[in-house]
Amino acid sequence: MNINRRETRCVQIGNKMIGGDHPILIQSMTNTDTRDARATIEQILALEAAGCEIARVAVPDEAAADALSDIRKGIHIPLVADIHFSHKLALKAIEAGVDKLRINPGNIGGEAKVREVVAAAKANNIPIRIGVNAGSLEKDLLTKYNGPTAQAMVESAEGHIRILEDLNFENIVVSMKASDVLLTVDAYTAFSEKYDYPLHLGITEAGVLRSSAIKSGIGLGHLLLNGIGDTLRVSITGDPVDEVYAAKDILNAIGLYHGTAGMVEVVSCPTCGRTEIDLICIAEEINRRVRGLNKNLKVAVMGCVVNGPGEGKEADIGVAGGKGKGVLFKKGVIYKTVNEDEIVDALMEEIYNA
Ligand code: SF4
Repeated sequence: MNINRRETRCVQIGNKMIGGDHPILIQSMTNTDTRDARATIEQILALEAAGCEIARVAVPDEAAADALSDIRKGIHIPLVADIHFSHKLALKAIEAGVDKLRINPGNIGGEAKVREVVAAAKANNIPIRIGVNAGSLEKDLLTKYNGPTAQAMVESAEGHIRILEDLNFENIVVSMKASDVLLTVDAYTAFSEKYDYPLHLGITEAGVLRSSAIKSGIGLGHLLLNGIGDTLRVSITGDPVDEVYAAKDILNAIGLYHGTAGMVEVVSCPTCGRTEIDLICIAEEINRRVRGLNKNLKVAVMGCVVNGPGEGKEADIGVAGGKGKGVLFKKGVIYKTVNEDEIVDALMEEIYNA
């Protein structure tokens, strides 16, 4: 299946580009107290190591805005300031050197304030992400559409876009998030039929890791397969580093992962009555150890030597279990046998050397 990406405008975010045919970038958002610059930098560095390409921080007050300059200097990927309602915080964030703002111009207190923010964003080549969220739509739109519908979300985005376009500002990224997967898909799809601004994809309030991975995999996966989306965040109630791994998995599953952080994909069989080793523990341990490895490899962890090497022949390296043993194979061809308790270390050695 070929994915035909929709043509969107290119937008520069610090040292990265999104839109056009640039790779789909992975974002995450810190959950440290932004005022604690050291903790926030540490978390962003962990996100970077996992493969995050854009980091967003909440800027709820002046003290958080004061920390932005130090945070910016301590990291290597673009920094996005997430601001609600305050044009003063937006101006401070721009002054601190952030690479993008997430702020809705219709909510910052009138034209004069928007003008100030737009002028500063223009002067510093800072894009603005308009973030429409089904949970916080304008009351008049909720009345007009009888609730949060895709049309209401598109119209909300249009209102914010118009404010910026009237000031000749088109350095815009848009998101259309909802916690409902189908509503999210409809909203992004409807928006992308009308506009070519690049889209930041996300399912919001998607829950803990398993729930979010499923909702995001289905919703964002559907959009990406239809060519929609230029950057994504998988929202997880939990460690933001997991958001990055989940986003990598989603992109990799449909051949769209182009990150520089590498991706060791582990495929493993579901086990069955033929399995004679503790494959579940072995597969979990291999998955744990390859997390964050900067290599591009496919590794197969299979339960039996009868079917494993054949079924895993697409993998660069693999192991298949026998009775208390494991056979290592490359592209389906067996080349070594080890004891069960040596399987993990032996496979990891091959992975490191590959
Ligand atoms: Fe069963 Fe072997 Fe297939 Fe695993 S690879 S599911 S053990 S037949």
